[in-house]
Amino acid sequence: MGWRRGRKGKSRQGGYRAAIPPAAYIELRSHLAQIDDLGRARAVLSWDERTMMPPGGAPGRAEQLATLSGLLHERLVSDDLARLLDQLRPYEETLPYDSDEASMIRITRREHQRAQRVPSELKVEMARAGSIAEHAWKEARKQSDFEVLLPHLGKIVELKRRYVECFDDAGHPYEPLLDDFEPGMTLVETERLIGALKTSIVPLATAIAERADTVDDSCLHGRFPAATQRSLAISMLCDLPIEADFFRLDESAHPFATSFSNTDVRIATRYSEDYLAGSLFSTLHEFGHALYDSGVSAALERSALGRPASLGVHESQSRIWENFIGRSLPFWQHFYPRVQDTFPDHFGGVDLEHFHRAVNKVQRSLIRTEADEFTYNLHVILRYELEREILEGSLTLVDLPEAWKARVKSYLDLDVPSDSQGVLQDVHWAEGAFGYFPTYSFGNIIAGQIWEVLRRSLVDLDDQIARGDFSQLREWLREHVHRHGRKFTSAEMIQRLVGGPIDVDPYIRYLRAKAEELYGLS
Ligand code: ZN
Repeated sequence: MGWRRGRKGKSRQGGYRAAIPPAAYIELRSHLAQIDDLGRARAVLSWDERTMMPPGGAPGRAEQLATLSGLLHERLVSDDLARLLDQLRPYEETLPYDSDEASMIRITRREHQRAQRVPSELKVEMARAGSIAEHAWKEARKQSDFEVLLPHLGKIVELKRRYVECFDDAGHPYEPLLDDFEPGMTLVETERLIGALKTSIVPLATAIAERADTVDDSCLHGRFPAATQRSLAISMLCDLPIEADFFRLDESAHPFATSFSNTDVRIATRYSEDYLAGSLFSTLHEFGHALYDSGVSAALERSALGRPASLGVHESQSRIWENFIGRSLPFWQHFYPRVQDTFPDHFGGVDLEHFHRAVNKVQRSLIRTEADEFTYNLHVILRYELEREILEGSLTLVDLPEAWKARVKSYLDLDVPSDSQGVLQDVHWAEGAFGYFPTYSFGNIIAGQIWEVLRRSLVDLDDQIARGDFSQLREWLREHVHRHGRKFTSAEMIQRLVGGPIDVDPYIRYLRAKAEELYGLS
């Protein structure tokens, strides 16, 4: 699917000029502003739920989120919006495909048509069930008991099946779910990308795991008080290219980033007091998401385009900051003295090169969010396979913990000692986010492609990063990725950037170069 498809180049019709949008377009923007406001208000409630709210708030919050989701859905499927979209079709046909206005109409129509297929009651029920199940997940994880989550997960899967039935023309029950997170992505394309990734990663991760002992990361383990880690995280964020007035850093059981406008982004991280790398890289990861949110063009705010393109593209930005930049030597040339000053007892005698190798240690582990770059995708692939099997009906939820263990054994050669370190570690399924996991791998793949182009453009990038100068890097990302918001699908964005489809090879080249540098693998 090329990004040039559509109406670009067709004859001008309807007598409109691109420079003067018709009244219907002004009306559309005001309608979309309300929808976006409802979405952002919902995001505020979700952020509060995950960072601040006492557990007693759960039932009330579930109702509030459900009500807002219902209102948002009603606005999105309204006859008013349908009328505006019809009226605007001739205007749209006069415009280039990639103009703000044509994109606004095209993306709104897509969202309107998708939403129209789903009854409002089902949307409300899904929001309520997701909120309740998320709290059950917290309890289940605390008790390390999948049984606590099981009935809630059963409800979620039942609702997902009803949701999928609304898309009766879908080729596979997984596809409409995937499409919610990665517009335009098909199951065939997912299989192509995940399959290629698996073929390259499994032998690479196995080869490195055999040499894991050549890298010593003991300096990252010890006692690191959460409050001191927080000071370090804040100090690093203040040096990264985001305005201090535009973000907040908080704590959450599951690190995440969200935004309420492009000058108000929220980062939530997690501090593990016995392992420093956890919060360092979670914070950098979420910073990458936050920077993308804040870089969307102001002209697209409060509209259908005022958000990132897809979860895959979103994740490419977080992975670029967490890994491509955050695990590079130049980055720590700038930041490592600060780490040494903050924790002199731990790092006073550890030199920069040792620290750089330590943060790049490859080790098969049980927890996805703490996995190294090489084994990370194996965690994603196993979740993708399991959730697809659940949707296909070939795996029942009762059997999920055992299936999880078997898959971890097969891909990572590890035994899962408990549900909390296994099937209960991620919140996604409890929230109802089926079809989400592959976007993590899409993010890595897309990051690899963006990184190759970026490095060709900014030839002295390493020197800039080592100096702590991230300004050109931010401008490049803003110009080529962030500012477009939701205008393009991930496939379209990559096509514009590299002149070809989404492709695993650049990411694998990046990993192989790193394996050679750090582990001597050729
Ligand atoms: Zn992420």
